[in-house]
Amino acid sequence: MSLLATARFHTTVAALHQLPRDGLPEVAFVGRSNAGKSSAINLLCRRRRLAFSSRTPGRTQALNFFHVGPADRPVGELVDTPGYGFAAVPHATREAWQALAGRYLGSRVPLVGVVLVADVRRRLTDLDRRLVAFVAPGTPLVAALTKADKLNRQQGREALAAVLAELAALRGPGSPSHALLFSVLDGTGRDELAGVVENWLGGLAAGADADAEKKPRQPDGPGA
Ligand code: GDP
Repeated sequence: MSLLATARFHTTVAALHQLPRDGLPEVAFVGRSNAGKSSAINLLCRRRRLAFSSRTPGRTQALNFFHVGPADRPVGELVDTPGYGFAAVPHATREAWQALAGRYLGSRVPLVGVVLVADVRRRLTDLDRRLVAFVAPGTPLVAALTKADKLNRQQGREALAAVLAELAALRGPGSPSHALLFSVLDGTGRDELAGVVENWLGGLAAGADADAEKKPRQPDGPGA
């Protein structure tokens, strides 16, 4: 089984002091409400309802953590952050988003990568640009441009190139940034994004461990 297919709910965090202390690497998923973030997480993990749409009441201002890896020995966390839509929400909600998700993205030490889910037809919006500014400069970021099935090939290529160029300009040369086209309808980009996330979480070694849980572990030694 692939590493991401082992994802299961771990915990919900509504305040920074509740963040897990287990030191596992974390990959965060961010995006405007309705961009397609829950659909993307569910496709990556090959699950129907692991992550819920940001319209689900009560989940809007919390970080939801999902363990990946063997049941008794998780190797990483996927973190679903509240969908944002600053322009449409009251000031108090925006402040709450910044106090939790904004500070998490900017200062969380175990955070090894950020997946920004954006509707390919809108490319990056002002809200996405503000989001990118929250992410610490050294944290790798990939933009998953979803709903790619709504554009033809040429339009998709143009949108991808424009977003890549914009991310490079926004983040600067020392900040790793990447972008890919994605679609839950036809699976475009699913394997590429899964590869990026699994690589951030520890690469093939972690995936191999998830597969190897039933085999006896060899003692470490020269050649191990
Ligand atoms: P969230 O609010 O960002 O979690 O967005 P959802 O995952 O709930 O998706 C919002 C809407 O976009 C839903 O109606 C989805 O079915 C639709 N959607 C999500 N991804 C895609 C996609 O790749 N292609 C198309 N055509 N629709 C999508």
